[in-house]
Amino acid sequence: MIKENLNAVRENIRLAAEEAGRDPGDVTLIAVSKTKPVSMIEEAYACGCLDFGENRVQELCEKYEVLPKDIRWHLIGHLQRNKVKYVVDKAYLIHSVDSLKLAQEIQKEAEKKQVDVNILIEVNMADEESKFGVSAKEAEDLVREAAKLPNIHIQGLMTIAPIVEKPEDNAVHFANLKQLSVDIKRKNIDNVNMNVLSMGMTGDYGQAVKDGATYVRVGTGIFGER
Ligand SMILES: *Cc1c(COP(=O)(O)O)cnc(C)c1O
Repeated sequence: MIKENLNAVRENIRLAAEEAGRDPGDVTLIAVSKTKPVSMIEEAYACGCLDFGENRVQELCEKYEVLPKDIRWHLIGHLQRNKVKYVVDKAYLIHSVDSLKLAQEIQKEAEKKQVDVNILIEVNMADEESKFGVSAKEAEDLVREAAKLPNIHIQGLMTIAPIVEKPEDNAVHFANLKQLSVDIKRKNIDNVNMNVLSMGMTGDYGQAVKDGATYVRVGTGIFGER
């Protein structure tokens, strides 16, 4: 089942990219494996999947210990400051940095462990009360401050779009995130890349690809309902 699902998702990504005149190779699929057992991750890994997303630090660390070391672990969920120390040397990319205090904590632990940490700034594009992330207006300020931390490397932006019935309804948020990243890139801030756009989930990843996503985060569409 996982193999068929992966093939279907990959095909949808390819079609959406082509429709938008983009190279499908510029879009990386993150298989969101939260709550799912190691055996299912191994199955996806056997199908060539190397990028996996988890939203809890403890679960990421447990899976990290027992799975192949060439897996790239993406921390996509809200990160509490007291958990940073467990994950800085295990996450390939932290998608959910939304405050300077969190960035400073990552810096502190990264320095202790002498590692560099790649991060994205999470932006709450639809200003939803229930969601983490800085507002679009605050994003550039946070980028500027976090960029001063030597062990942190900002690679781009991430958003969790609202739950909608039609994927097109999120096009405005995806397009706005893309525009925000273009605007920030133009400022040429030291130690800041704006090459990564992490957006799109099972319900709307095709739309996100059309609007410029470089990472899509798909859980249900690969592993089934949680
Ligand atoms: C769970 C989760 C996903 C995947 O959601 P699906 O709808 O199952 O594809 C993507 N991004 C984040 C941040 C998540 O927490």
